[in-house]
Amino acid sequence: MQQRVVVLGSTGSIGQSTLDVIARHPARYRVYALAALRQIDLLENQIDRFKPAVVVVVDPAAAEQLQARLTAKGSKVQVQTGAEALVSLVRTPEIDTVMAAIVGAAGLPSALAAAEAGKRVLLANKEALVMAGPVFMEAVRRSGALLLPIDSEHNAIFQSLPANYAANPEANGVSHIVLTASGGPFRGYKKEQLTEVTPEQAVSHPKWSMGPKISVDSASLMNKGLEVIEAHFLFGLPAEKIKVVVHPQSTIHSLVQYVDGSVIAELGEPDMRTPIAHALAWPERIQSGVSLLDLVSCVQFDFAEPDLEAFPCLSLAFEALKRGGSAPAVLNAANEVAVAAFLDRKIKFLAIPEVIRQTLAEISDYPLTDLDSVLDVDRRARHYAQALVDGTP
Ligand code: NAD
Ligand code: MG
Repeated sequence: MQQRVVVLGSTGSIGQSTLDVIARHPARYRVYALAALRQIDLLENQIDRFKPAVVVVVDPAAAEQLQARLTAKGSKVQVQTGAEALVSLVRTPEIDTVMAAIVGAAGLPSALAAAEAGKRVLLANKEALVMAGPVFMEAVRRSGALLLPIDSEHNAIFQSLPANYAANPEANGVSHIVLTASGGPFRGYKKEQLTEVTPEQAVSHPKWSMGPKISVDSASLMNKGLEVIEAHFLFGLPAEKIKVVVHPQSTIHSLVQYVDGSVIAELGEPDMRTPIAHALAWPERIQSGVSLLDLVSCVQFDFAEPDLEAFPCLSLAFEALKRGGSAPAVLNAANEVAVAAFLDRKIKFLAIPEVIRQTLAEISDYPLTDLDSVLDVDRRARHYAQALVDGTP
């Protein structure tokens, strides 16, 4: 049967890769809806090509502009607007699959609604799990949603675990997991060399082509920190059983080490269409457009410990995970504020971990019981981090 898919964040890097995979399999997938913040030129092309029934443009002015263009062309598509439209969209019974590829905290309500509605949830938006891990996983359990990780490391771990793993490492002989990190554009830099790095340098990733926020996260190693927290919730492993190793070639996407000495990993070209195709088709396999790995051309695999002195964001994430409760949500909120300020040239690169450290120290722990409690702590942390950025704590 044809899967009806909603692509949230269709104009982004993951959204475009998703549509690229879907376009290769018109009989299997129908794009029921597209959603984005405002990039209406690209969205208009996507609408012409995929003919969705529904389009959401969260920004009202952009939505109005797009509606006018579509109406002038004689199109019957209704453009909806506002963040609430995303939530009602993913709840519609007409859809089976939700690609959650909005960046940052803005993606949480719709990703969570998809989990609550029992959909097949393709989760790229790692921030949703970092902020709301317990609430999100509980929603998945209750509704019976199928949660498939898109983040390449987590998708690799998912593929390297037994099919009936059920978040139970002991029963499956899992010793620990190893998340690989490319090291980003500043791999090998010492702290002194990071003082004057620019947003342009930070977003030019050597291996992966991604949106600006995750590119800065990769440069600071916060991306790996967020992924450690994401892995904790997805796979039921404590912080001590999640390791990080720098692997600049990005060919091994992550590994599972078993108690008997076996190591199972997933390898491939660094192209997000592989995990996207995996999650779209699971448990089957489909073509993704990614060329097959040529082992002979993989000259060598390097591995190194991450430099926590130069890249303290990774340690901050481990600390937040160990503290638990709302600490990961605070970490995420402070990071989003700090990264936006860095991209706006309001703060230096090395101020990013400082803003996060101080926000984590200031905002006390808070139980996360539902979406509102998560959004509440997110707001408080953002407010404090913004004041730090503006120099008026
Ligand atoms: P991107 O910046 O390229 O795209 C973001 C998308 O989100 C765009 O379509 C944008 O319109 C939409 N968006 C932004 N703010 C919004 C809002 N307030 N409301 C509605 N839509 C909004 O980002 P990306 O690189 O595609 O990353 C998307 C998510 O996937 C992130 O959470 C990222 O961490 C994760 N991810 C990305 C990659 C990658 O290779 N790009 C890999 C792993 C995980
Ligand atoms: Mg990743």
